Amino acid sequence: MLINLSDVLSERHTMVDETVQMEMDEVRLKAGRYPIVRKEPVHVTVTHIKERELELHADTRFSVVIPCDRCLADVEREFVLDFSRMVDLAASEGELKEGFDESDCIDGYDLDVDKMLYSEILIGWPTKVLCREDCKGICNVCGQNLNEGTCDCEDTHLDPRMSVVRDLFKNFKEV
Ligand SMILES: [Zn+2]
Ligand SMILES: [Zn+2]
Repeated sequence: MLINLSDVLSERHTMVDETVQMEMDEVRLKAGRYPIVRKEPVHVTVTHIKERELELHADTRFSVVIPCDRCLADVEREFVLDFSRMVDLAASEGELKEGFDESDCIDGYDLDVDKMLYSEILIGWPTKVLCREDCKGICNVCGQNLNEGTCDCEDTHLDPRMSVVRDLFKNFKEV
């Protein structure tokens, strides 16, 4: 979805205040594609600050289906976005001022709402997704979902207490 910015950039600097729909239906990352479900409209305002500096603001909420890290079951994660961003259309590449975002979501006089949202989704992407805190995962021998039942592959099951330790370890590594 593109929003034309020529009015806010014109002499009169009319504020843009629009409610639009997100067009993308999935989030594409290197790790995979994640369907976007239950989208709400996106409210966007664009205010003129000075010269060619603009302040963008957007808020919306939607849910993305992401597989559980342990058992791969679908987990619906809600994203609540409410953010502002300063862009300086006069700054060329390499001379972007500190605190200003790259204006890669702006092409000429058009703001690409989906591109702007996409970068916010990346920032807020969860590092860990579990269907429930105590998800038992799947047996790595036979593939049985251990939340739904047990299997006969003894000794290969991760002790739930071990998975807590493993998660702690993972968190340490991420710090
Ligand atoms: Zn799970
Ligand atoms: Zn098994």
